[in-house]
Amino acid sequence: MKEGLHPNYQETEIKCACGAVYKTCSTKADMHVDICSSCHPFFTGKQKLVDTGGRVDRFKKRFNLDK
Ligand SMILES: [Zn+2]
Repeated sequence: MKEGLHPNYQETEIKCACGAVYKTCSTKADMHVDICSSCHPFFTGKQKLVDTGGRVDRFKKRFNLDK
């Protein structure tokens, strides 16, 4: 078996911005995500505004939607 072919596959936690924590197996240690299956609009059916760095504002201004 070649060295380095199998990186450390370990149990890790994926933490979402909404507070949800998922246990999974990965080669990476603790991961952080902005959106997960419990807060993504596709899964919740709710519209949630995910505005990173005012991107939505800029979009609105560009199309004059904020009046
Ligand atoms: Zn989430």
